[in-house]
Amino acid sequence: MKIAFFSSKPYDKTFFEAENKNYGFELNFYETHLGPHIVNAIEDEQAVCVFVNDKVNRQVIEILAKKGVKIIALRCAGFNNVDLEAAKEFGIKVCRVPAYSPEAVAEHTMAMLLTLNRKTHKAYNRVREQNFALNGLLGFNLFQKTIGIVGTGKIGKAFINIAKGFGCKIIAYDLYPDQELMNNGVEYVELDKLFKSSDIISLHCPLTPENHYMINQETIAMMKDGVTIINTSRGGLINTHEAIESLKNHKIGYLGIDVYEQEEKLFFKDLSAEIIQDDMIQRLMSFPNVLVTAHQAFFTQEALEQISEITMRSISEIKEKGSTDEVVML
Ligand code: NAD
Repeated sequence: MKIAFFSSKPYDKTFFEAENKNYGFELNFYETHLGPHIVNAIEDEQAVCVFVNDKVNRQVIEILAKKGVKIIALRCAGFNNVDLEAAKEFGIKVCRVPAYSPEAVAEHTMAMLLTLNRKTHKAYNRVREQNFALNGLLGFNLFQKTIGIVGTGKIGKAFINIAKGFGCKIIAYDLYPDQELMNNGVEYVELDKLFKSSDIISLHCPLTPENHYMINQETIAMMKDGVTIINTSRGGLINTHEAIESLKNHKIGYLGIDVYEQEEKLFFKDLSAEIIQDDMIQRLMSFPNVLVTAHQAFFTQEALEQISEITMRSISEIKEKGSTDEVVML
């Protein structure tokens, strides 16, 4: 069995080759993303392994099917970048890694929040310049603040556990409220109420056609002045242009994003010698109260071990038995 990896980085090779000692598949790693320009390179691979910014649309799927590919394995949780209908039509199984160390993402969410509320990113640079003044570094306590969690699945839940340790009040919105969380004092509210009542809003739901741009000028207008918004979920949940306007007029007090709606042109690449053409990201990075990380919330040793383990097991099970628990159903 041959597997072609797209958007692969040295760390993907390290973790997947280690895991492959249990399987003995032939792994081919391509740095480029999967797209019509590369599918011709596929010879007799039966599986492709892709990541968050590989656009696996109908055109790509049709070519993959012609090449004999039977499995699209996402080495991530989200699957908004794959045309599942087309995959079904062409008889290709799509699997993902629904759960891998939700704590990795939850802990990064708290890291972003703590960076913003205590301005450690500014303090780090300042002290290195021998500037030991505190002016401009005034923070705020998390203790007794209200955090609104949108999406209380695995990551949302892990983040709630952490935030509770800081003495925060938790309110939440989810299409399917979690009884265990309710028993433990989490109050579910309507989305509008969450926007109105939260000091801090953290997004942990998947991106779907229904919630695209859920953070926009109308919903931001409902929020408290100086609200903090953290997005470690998917970039398309926030209308970036409208968020920038709300940062300019101080409505948004702090913004932390690990994901960005146009991230596929930027993230996971070293562009330090390039001229960035994306004016929105440049404007975002110019704000002192905005923190951008490049989709690194998942990036821990533990998470990468689990991702490679689950992905390889799923591919193997689909090959042997035709399916696996991690197959994405329509
Ligand atoms: P999950 O499936 O366990 O939980 C998602 C929750 O969101 C579910 O409870 C679901 O009912 C809820 N939900 C679905 N649609 C909703 C909506 N419109 N409004 C409110 N809630 C809604 O998923 P998870 O493992 O907790 O992951 C959450 C998201 O985090 C993923 O979809 C992915 O986009 C993102 N993620 C980001 C990174 C990263 O590195 N930044 C890594 C992994 C996952």
